[in-house]
Amino acid sequence: MSDETPHSECWLQGRAIVSGIAVGLPFFLQECSLQSSETSRSSFSLSDEIARLASAFAHTQHELGILVDKLSSEGFCQEAAVIETQVALAEDTSLRQEIENAIQTQFLPAEEAVREVTEEFRGRFELLPEIVFRQRFDDVDSICQRLIAFLTMGGYAHGQIPQHAVVFAKSVTPSIAVEMSVHGVGALVTTHGGPMSHTAIVAKARGIPYVSGIDDSRMAPSREGGKVIVDGLAGLVIVNPTNETMQRYMALAAAHDLCLQENTVAAAPETRTRDGQRIALLANVSGVPEMKQVSCFGLDGVGLYRTEYQVLEHRRFPSEAEQAASYAEMVQLAEGRPLVIRAFDFSSDKGWEEVWDVLPNVKEGRRATSLLLDHQTVFQAHLRAIIRASRHGPLSILFPMVSSVGELEQCKLLVQEAWSFVCAEKEVAFPRIGAMIELPALAFQTRALASMVDFLAIGTNDLIQYALAVDRSNTACFDPNLTFHPGLLHLLAIIVRESTAVGVPVSVCGEMASDLLMTPFLIGVGFRHLSMVPRLAPMVRHLVRSLTVEECERLAREVLGMDSPETIRARLREWYCRNHGVLQC
Ligand code: PEP
Ligand code: MG
Repeated sequence: MSDETPHSECWLQGRAIVSGIAVGLPFFLQECSLQSSETSRSSFSLSDEIARLASAFAHTQHELGILVDKLSSEGFCQEAAVIETQVALAEDTSLRQEIENAIQTQFLPAEEAVREVTEEFRGRFELLPEIVFRQRFDDVDSICQRLIAFLTMGGYAHGQIPQHAVVFAKSVTPSIAVEMSVHGVGALVTTHGGPMSHTAIVAKARGIPYVSGIDDSRMAPSREGGKVIVDGLAGLVIVNPTNETMQRYMALAAAHDLCLQENTVAAAPETRTRDGQRIALLANVSGVPEMKQVSCFGLDGVGLYRTEYQVLEHRRFPSEAEQAASYAEMVQLAEGRPLVIRAFDFSSDKGWEEVWDVLPNVKEGRRATSLLLDHQTVFQAHLRAIIRASRHGPLSILFPMVSSVGELEQCKLLVQEAWSFVCAEKEVAFPRIGAMIELPALAFQTRALASMVDFLAIGTNDLIQYALAVDRSNTACFDPNLTFHPGLLHLLAIIVRESTAVGVPVSVCGEMASDLLMTPFLIGVGFRHLSMVPRLAPMVRHLVRSLTVEECERLAREVLGMDSPETIRARLREWYCRNHGVLQC
């Protein structure tokens, strides 16, 4: 399939991370550094290199400052907080000192010294026992990439990456993805990167098509500079497309845009299958900006509000009053639509040191609901804050990663206590209560859990992680077939069958809910509630409207009879492509 003759069309098959189609000119994030280190090496002067490094740091700090202001003014407080951490790192003298030492002792040009120190840091961080520390390397890496970009081409952040460019890189850190989205990047193509990574979540939230799994050698044809098409659904990168391919893709992109327009309406009619089955499309949100998208993408409500992101916003653990104020704002923005507020879902791999003092057992590996139950004073305050917000409109409380029936019983008692306390101040309705199934073992206790709650929600990101022993934050080796593992599909089928049998609604709220290849399967096994990044809802709505429950059930039965993830993926893809005119590869 791959033809590497210069200027001939070349198809590169990678992993589909974020769907969507983009056409643009290629831009190589790291390549620039190699060219100018050659130049600088020929005229090496110690003092010049130290001075170049100083300007690179000054520029980086300035650049990050602008980014923080821009993100804050657009209401992206959490992203702004991530970048603020990097501002602090860039201002810290120890990183700069290490790079200066490398220049002075090894006579390296500044950019090579930065690269050397980055690698040293990578090695040191990799040795750290806890993932939370290891992930801190992302911030160092982001700063170093900015320094190198400045030293080799005067910075890539402002004006260097042309609008609509297709950015090629080994990997892209979440903060750089945020910045690139602000500057209108067209698409991302990387070597490393998985669909559940934070970079993928940023790209999804901003509608940037993203394909990973394309290594350096396969990126070669695109270095010729010809146009590139990125098909984020098929996981395809087409370099130097012929006129014919271009026309086909332009038609697909136009259909995609039209579909977005038609399905992105604030007052969207209910989403129903062709044969009339109602499917609720709900939003996953982590703060006010996404909450504002709920109405403009015509969603039915919020299926998952990730409250733990409040810590990023405040840069510390929020007080009960701060929590209550945030939840009240979210309830008001929901304008009467259903709103599911998930209790704090902290774990050491989420990496927020701000919670360590308040919930110290997180360091022992406790997480989610078990962690909250370890620290009941904090948990009680959190529940009171949520329940107080229900004065402004209806809400539900969802408990993350419940690990036993007993745990859920304790949560219910605590909700009862918190509710009585709040009612003593002023009467409020008793909240609906839900539990998340994210641990495979709990799938087999669905009936017991369902009988105790008003609704269930499946966190497929964690369910996949724990069912198939994949580290969701390790993006380097994510196998795209995993999501289609027959064992996982059977788990989903069991959960929906058992909860439906006792009349309790169950939603899918991991990234799988917006995977268009999975939509017919999910409907076919019986899911009627899908919760996703708001921006992806129009495409899911468009697909749902073209399906009938009967054909979905047939397809689901067929794939549940298959034994290999590869075969299942191929069948779902073939089915989708045949019904939706997408190019097959
Ligand atoms: C999940 O695990 O699928 C989920 C929705 O929760 P989170 O991604 O916040 O862990
Ligand atoms: Mg989860």
